[in-house]
Amino acid sequence: MSTSSSSDAQTPSSDHVEGTSSLAHEAPTSDAKVYKGKPMTWFRHLAYATGWGMTPEIEDEYRRDVGDYYADALCKRCEDHRDWLLKNSPIVRFMTDQVAEVNGHLSRDSIRCLPCEKDQAGGFHPTLGILLCQNKLRDRNHVEDTIAHEMVHAYDHLRFQVDWDNPKHLACSEIRASTLSGECRPWQEWMVRGQWKFLRHMEQCVRRRATISVSGHPKVKGDMEMAGKIVDQVFDSCYKDTRPFREVYR
Ligand SMILES: [Zn+2]
Repeated sequence: MSTSSSSDAQTPSSDHVEGTSSLAHEAPTSDAKVYKGKPMTWFRHLAYATGWGMTPEIEDEYRRDVGDYYADALCKRCEDHRDWLLKNSPIVRFMTDQVAEVNGHLSRDSIRCLPCEKDQAGGFHPTLGILLCQNKLRDRNHVEDTIAHEMVHAYDHLRFQVDWDNPKHLACSEIRASTLSGECRPWQEWMVRGQWKFLRHMEQCVRRRATISVSGHPKVKGDMEMAGKIVDQVFDSCYKDTRPFREVYR
């Protein structure tokens, strides 16, 4: 279910859905975002770069502080994008309303920015909500596509009683999420991934991303060939199913 930054690799686990292990294990506490290290001055960067006055302890402290300092900055940037998009993005607002129609409530509290280790942009968990991988998101457009992608999963979960344990169900939702979120729009493929193909670029992009995601399902265990077959089996019907959109949104 995760939207990936360059792949949709998932974290197998019995009750869920990829990307969700991070969400489950790394839920932030309220003070987690407050930087508690020493001031991050140019002098510290210079000392580290030149090795001047460095001891192993100072070096460790510097490395730890750098990680914490930039984690805060990334988290803030991600949350600012999220909040802006919840107010201003047509697709995010539309999907928020559609999820509400099927009795789901998505707000800033259920869309959380956290650091991710895997190569993914986001994730959806039926009870924990939407994960945004603050350290994998390039810019606001990428955050927008990722929120839209995960919101399609949320919508599917509520509207169609998806069985996430069934790889075919996951495949169908991934196909819809990639198609409807806009992450496979033509310019995106061309600008970001250098995979410009004049014909059927969108369909190929959706197939590729869905296959990578399905390969991460616990029952598929990384088998790309099996994942490709599962995607093929459901592709036509799921690719055509644009609910809740009338047509594919660009
Ligand atoms: Zn997904």
